[in-house]
Amino acid sequence: MALIVHKYGGTSMGSPERIRNVAKRVAKWARAGHQMVVVPSAMSGETNRLLGLAKEVNPGLLDDAAMRELDMIAATGEQVSVGLLALALQAEGMAAVSYAGWQVPVRTDSSYTKARIASIDDQRVRADLSAGKVVVITGFQGIDEAGSITTLGRGGSDTSAVAVAAAMGAAECLIYTDVDGVYTTDPRVVPEARRMNTISFEEMLEMASLGSKVLQIRSVEFAGKYRVPLRVLSSFTPWDIDIDEEAKSGTLITFEEDEKMEQAVISGIAFNRDEAKFTVVGVPDKPGIAYQILGAVADANIDVDVIVQNVSHDGRTDFSFTVHRNDFQRVNDLLANTIVPNTGAAMFTADPRICKVSIVGIGMKSHAGVASTMFRTLSEEGINIQMITTSEIKTSVVLDEKYMELAVRALHRAFGLDAPVTQV
Ligand code: ADP
Ligand code: ASP
Ligand code: MG
Repeated sequence: MALIVHKYGGTSMGSPERIRNVAKRVAKWARAGHQMVVVPSAMSGETNRLLGLAKEVNPGLLDDAAMRELDMIAATGEQVSVGLLALALQAEGMAAVSYAGWQVPVRTDSSYTKARIASIDDQRVRADLSAGKVVVITGFQGIDEAGSITTLGRGGSDTSAVAVAAAMGAAECLIYTDVDGVYTTDPRVVPEARRMNTISFEEMLEMASLGSKVLQIRSVEFAGKYRVPLRVLSSFTPWDIDIDEEAKSGTLITFEEDEKMEQAVISGIAFNRDEAKFTVVGVPDKPGIAYQILGAVADANIDVDVIVQNVSHDGRTDFSFTVHRNDFQRVNDLLANTIVPNTGAAMFTADPRICKVSIVGIGMKSHAGVASTMFRTLSEEGINIQMITTSEIKTSVVLDEKYMELAVRALHRAFGLDAPVTQV
């Protein structure tokens, strides 16, 4: 008998019928003798609907006080889900109880809308498990020191589930979703994408951080830090499939460093269109300029992603960086009101229509010429590269958003990731 955490995403919880299906699957695992903790997301579309309502009553929504209220509103989606799932489990004849984040409690910092989990008190949950109950805990939310409800960022239920699994020393955390595992790239964009049976923790971390929303990045970080066995699998298989078969399906995140060394140089392609690019033009090229520009952005609690400083001409240079598109207006205002006047720059340009496409693979560590294959492929498609950034196991390029799908498909083919065509 093992302690197992299941996480079900929004689509998997998308209707009363699907919730009943989730309950049947969980009941099957509990009847097989496992102690079950279940972490569901809000029903699909619900978080967007709630945040849309908030925007309707206050389109500005920029300061901390407003962010607190956003979390208060967004967290209700998961509260409905846990109640419904616990009811559905009871209808299956299981003893089940639901908890909101604050009732566990899941303690977080106070960074509303992107809070980090600090600790999870497992006493209440353990007592329920010992009493033979299935425990259903809200994904995506926690409570800060002041007692305010916080949320963990979009897709944060993955992180809630892995953090609960880590805190409780669960034998495995199973992330049930609307695809049957982690693919070489988003199968909705490239139908030829292949499911991987395993992916290394390092590669999964890069894929998640570079935009593959199949797992939220912080969930992968938690899994790495606490060595939580983590698997991504489908919630759309029949609920009554053989439990051993189900337990081996999907994609397992592995921690053995060398496992993938002999395999493909590139394991996957990630992309996102969540970023916006700014260029400060004609900045005086002197020590401290990067700090003057990026320090002001960091002070506003805005994360910067890709940074490029050009060579200087006549003592002046151009400085480009990207941020999350949600922060577009704030950075635009900062540049116009503070950074450009303070640095003596000539002007700035802003482009919200960019995308970032990245190739990821442990094999890049030991193979030369991978980046040049990427650049050649993009040039053959006539795609202009605006920015480039690399690390040991990834190369990312910033492109005009309109080229995103073309670039992903071309790279997927160029690196031999397309599934082999089945002979008839
Ligand atoms: P959930 O609601 O279950 O959390 P998400 O929508 O957050 O589901 O994540 C699953 C989605 O992630 C898939 O439907 C798929 O479109 C997308 N995705 C992006 N990259 C990948 C990838 N490399 N492998 C699998 N799915 C991916
Ligand atoms: N419901 C939240 C969201 O839509 C959290 C999640 O689904 O993981 O982002
Ligand atoms: Mg998700």
